Amino acid sequence: MRRRFEVAGIVQGVGFRPFVYRLATRLGLGGHVFNHEAGVTIEVEGDAAAVDAFAAALRPEAPPLSRIDEVRAVDVADAGERAFRIAPSAAHARAATLISPDVAVCDDCRRELFDPADRRHRYPFINCVNCGPRYTIIADLPYDRPKTTMRAFTMCPACQAEYDDPRTRRFHAQPNACPACGPRLALEDAAGRPLPAADPVAAAVARLVAGAILAVKGLGGFHLACDAALAAVVAELRRRKHRDEKPFAVMVRDLEAVAALAAVSDAEARLLTSPERPIVLLARRAGGPSCDEVAPGNRRVGVMLPYTPLHHLLLADAGGFPGPLVMTSANPSDEPIVRDNDEARWRLRGIADAFLVHDRDILVRADDSVLHVAAGMPRQVRRSRGFVPVPVRLPRGGPPVLAVGGELKNTICLTRGRDAFLSQHIGDLENAPTAAFLEEIAAHLQRVLDLRPEVVVHDLHPDYHATRYALHRTDLTRLAVQHHHAHVLACLAEHGREAPCIGLALDGTGYGLDDTIWGGEVLVVDGTAMQRAAHFRALPLPGGEQAIREPWRMALALLHVAGAADRLEQLLPRWPHAEARTARTLRDLLARAHPFPRSSGLGRLFDAVAALLGIRDLATFEGQAAMALEQAAAWDPAVPPYPIDLVPAAPGGTPLVVDPAAMARALLDDLDAGATPARAAARFHATIVATLVTLAQRTRADTSLRLVALGGGVFQNRILLETISARLTADGFEVLAPAQVPANDGGLALGQAYFALLSLG
Ligand code: ZN
Ligand code: ZN
Ligand code: FE
Repeated sequence: MRRRFEVAGIVQGVGFRPFVYRLATRLGLGGHVFNHEAGVTIEVEGDAAAVDAFAAALRPEAPPLSRIDEVRAVDVADAGERAFRIAPSAAHARAATLISPDVAVCDDCRRELFDPADRRHRYPFINCVNCGPRYTIIADLPYDRPKTTMRAFTMCPACQAEYDDPRTRRFHAQPNACPACGPRLALEDAAGRPLPAADPVAAAVARLVAGAILAVKGLGGFHLACDAALAAVVAELRRRKHRDEKPFAVMVRDLEAVAALAAVSDAEARLLTSPERPIVLLARRAGGPSCDEVAPGNRRVGVMLPYTPLHHLLLADAGGFPGPLVMTSANPSDEPIVRDNDEARWRLRGIADAFLVHDRDILVRADDSVLHVAAGMPRQVRRSRGFVPVPVRLPRGGPPVLAVGGELKNTICLTRGRDAFLSQHIGDLENAPTAAFLEEIAAHLQRVLDLRPEVVVHDLHPDYHATRYALHRTDLTRLAVQHHHAHVLACLAEHGREAPCIGLALDGTGYGLDDTIWGGEVLVVDGTAMQRAAHFRALPLPGGEQAIREPWRMALALLHVAGAADRLEQLLPRWPHAEARTARTLRDLLARAHPFPRSSGLGRLFDAVAALLGIRDLATFEGQAAMALEQAAAWDPAVPPYPIDLVPAAPGGTPLVVDPAAMARALLDDLDAGATPARAAARFHATIVATLVTLAQRTRADTSLRLVALGGGVFQNRILLETISARLTADGFEVLAPAQVPANDGGLALGQAYFALLSLG
């Protein structure tokens, strides 16, 4: 008998055809396999038992990098094919093809890397069809060597033979290379002059041991590397990078080394060793081998394992660097990660003491991804290398849409049918180089996905760079969606849901539909319709934007609404960064009802409480004070909440307004009565949990909805995410929380794209 299989998913450039060849040959089947625009077509012919065995093995034995979305099988007439062959690809193999993300070096390649008898022994660019660079080296479709940055290297006869042989792991492995024919490593001094070294890796390790800061070219850009144990060196790196306290990630040799640094659960260990090899946020061990300067005042540390052959060599048991290495994206302050060698030499001048470079070009930047495990599963914090461009499957399709995202932690999103391709982390668009990066990514994604968007969708904020970019796309149909509505839709989208729901959208800042900034929102979302069921009281931002960087100003605003501004003098000593005269002036302006901008953002309330408790009065990066407040909390689910008032905006009407005044007074009294900041921080968390659960219950009573979708950066707070999810679930709600895409603005573009499809549907 003969059967045809149509396979869709990530099935090209991942060793799928050789896998099919080996499977069919093993089962004694004839037939053929070929690539085309919609995936892979297979026909096998032989006895019925063997054909069934083939069908049964197709999914479970598929190569590690493939992702089968769909298999359709149909019996066809015998053709008398006795042997099995790999047929040429159909022309125009584009359209529905999916590109693999970059993948960490596989176990087979790692064994060869350290095998003195292997011809690729210690070769930093070893790869095979199961591992290596993909997305970051592909210029265009179809995914073939001439369309990648490997086109600069001509394979030697040995590599070419592997490339042509379906029985090897390197059959059609586009980046295939060896020391005779492939990319090479080189070490350069601070001025970019070559430093001759027989073994550049050994020379680089010697410099790291001596306390140097090295720029190391990786997969999606350069890292800055240094000894994570040396406080003076890490402090010097902070000074040169103009990075005050934002944590650095560290890379260590293996799981054992991770365990010395931080507590690791099984789920976290699986994530650390996954082919995506992200940075995983872990609970740091006191007295571990990395110095406090790595993540000042932070109880968590971002850790990753080696993912390129070069990383393995740098951290090898023998001759490698022994301890944890700081491995942070190489960029001056918050600009995009450095990509090219020339770019590194000028943009990292004065930052790096030496450069470890190579001559395989990176086509598109991609930072390391960051995840944490919360409420029992991995959740994205920054989705980039290893995950992009794997699509999120949407509940519905439509015309191709370009969603341009928000202002901070920007990503963009393109849709093709029901697939949503969220870009890698682009960054904060406030600086010009990052804004240019957005256009670079938009162009690249359109090229490799072979997509021409027909619709562009953006945030309502008129001054976001992304909005202005969208407004310039006069060639496209333009749509806009409210920020928190998009957060809720992003969560629904990744869970493949279209039903109306209660949305809890909690973050720092988002453009509202009235004259205030939103961010403490209980919404009723039904597709493109959105209503505000409840929200936190909008607090004045004393000094506008400045209040976001200086949480003590938010504390002052909270004191004001609580009628406790007379506490200022008592609290001033807890705010080392507050100038007394400025604080008194702001207090007086608040008393005179000065028209400061106002925000209901829950992030601002966290800032206020962090400052009231003397935990943080200054934020050197977004979310720092809120993070410190979470970490300071002596959390226990039985902690009693403070009182908080829910008052209708208009008598008998909606939305309900959460007034934190009574809570603030109770918190101050609690402190007066001797409560520690740790206890008060825990009770504050309990208050927010109880408030949101009550609001969800009231909204359910009004609407009969029991589906709840969570969104917004506040849900990176594990206490809130885990406790709110658990309590709502126990009370009969169905709760959807962000996992595949970040809860923060990094996931916003997905919600925007989904909004556009719903609008056009
Ligand atoms: Zn490999
Ligand atoms: Zn070669
Ligand atoms: Fe947001």
